[in-house]
Amino acid sequence: MPELPEVEVVRRSLVELVAGQRIIDVKVGWPKIIKSPEQHEQFQDALKGQTIRDIDRKGKFLIFLLDDYSLVSHLRMEGKYSKHKTEDPVDKHTHVIFCLSGGEELRYRDVRKFGTMHLFAKGSEWAVPPLSNLGPEPFSYEFSFDYFKGKLMKTDRFIKAVLLDQTIVTGLGNIYVDEVLFRSRIHPERKTKTLSDQEILTLKEQAALTLQESINAGGSSVNTYMNSYGQIGTYQNELKVYGRKDEECYHCGAIVQKIKVAGRGTHFCPACQVCN
Ligand SMILES: [Zn+2]
Repeated sequence: MPELPEVEVVRRSLVELVAGQRIIDVKVGWPKIIKSPEQHEQFQDALKGQTIRDIDRKGKFLIFLLDDYSLVSHLRMEGKYSKHKTEDPVDKHTHVIFCLSGGEELRYRDVRKFGTMHLFAKGSEWAVPPLSNLGPEPFSYEFSFDYFKGKLMKTDRFIKAVLLDQTIVTGLGNIYVDEVLFRSRIHPERKTKTLSDQEILTLKEQAALTLQESINAGGSSVNTYMNSYGQIGTYQNELKVYGRKDEECYHCGAIVQKIKVAGRGTHFCPACQVCN
């Protein structure tokens, strides 16, 4: 599943590929992807004639900013955007096609069909789900030490569960939470109330740093992720603990373990990340 860095990389490639283009027509082959408006015909009609002014992002949501609307798109497991010539064959996994003024098409392909699209009047998208449920991103001003500590002290959950909770901090998925905890030398099953101020500060810094490093590397190409040019990222080669079960810890040589925390497969080093 793409996480924040991968979606940011997709966003950047989409800006280059389609910003400034007008949508001439929209074809929806799998209406269930369109969550609002309820009728996909309304979705198609609203988009006709709209120009893609810019593409924004919050957490793992892409936000196409049009003249009058904002199109909020979540790729979920395997959603992908790519640009094609009109005559290119359309495969059976392509579910939404945006015909563009430049004579080409932006196609949304989704093998698992879990992706979603919501269309809102421009500016109103922040007041309603799914975007209204999202907490601040690790890089943002709102994600302050006081904010983060306040959330951590208010719950009895494990730190891994809290970092995965998108209402508290948005954009950290399973891969990056494992990486952030390893880099912070904190066990995934630490109760958040036991964390010291220094540990909270370290977590906060590592969260922003880890995501930024991954964005710079083009994201992690775990599973089938690629950007909208079809290029893969290289951050999977930089992962320090995720996916390294039974291998030696890069830091101390102990054997990386995989356990289940908060219902998710969780990698950690039992020597570097002691649960106290
Ligand atoms: Zn270690």
